[in-house]
Amino acid sequence: MIKRDPLAAYRAKRDLGKTPEPLGGEKHDGAPVFVVQKHDASHLHYDLRLEIGGVLKSWAVPKGPSLDPKVKRLAIPTEDHPLDYADFEGVIPEGEYGAGTVMVWDIGTYRNLKSETQEAHSIDENYEQGHLEIYLDGKKLKGAFTMVRTKRGGAKPQWLLWKKKDDFADTGHDILIDEPNSAVTRRSLGQIAAQKGDQ
Ligand code: MN
Repeated sequence: MIKRDPLAAYRAKRDLGKTPEPLGGEKHDGAPVFVVQKHDASHLHYDLRLEIGGVLKSWAVPKGPSLDPKVKRLAIPTEDHPLDYADFEGVIPEGEYGAGTVMVWDIGTYRNLKSETQEAHSIDENYEQGHLEIYLDGKKLKGAFTMVRTKRGGAKPQWLLWKKKDDFADTGHDILIDEPNSAVTRRSLGQIAAQKGDQ
């Protein structure tokens, strides 16, 4: 039986001899990881990735996450990424797919809140059904978030991401402005970009 390579689209978009991004293939035990990468490409955006089914399911979130439960953010699915992409911080060279600076803006683990209720669905099923209820334990993002696939956007699916009301909800601050730097190295986008050439 032929098993489809879930990372075929990821590899097809990249010349892995030219970009410092990881090739993939790493297996991982323990709590599933999440990462939010701040990506200064043609447009600055945030890439949210959740470990589901042995890969990082990925969304581009143009405006980034918000801690305000009233704010729903558009999340556009992108290709699955390898698990070891969660650590990637660096510069994708000009001319390569996604060219620009990538920062690990937040990283941590998450829990599937739906598996803790009577619904008892796996995260894979929730993803296929287009409705995630997750609890993030990151360095910046904490607490419960909802992600729902919408009918908007026609053939191309779109999701919405928003904070659920809990002790970590915050309507008074924009965490993207208050905490702009890397969650692992504390570097700014400019400082990461300046390393270009010596990685
Ligand atoms: Mn991106």
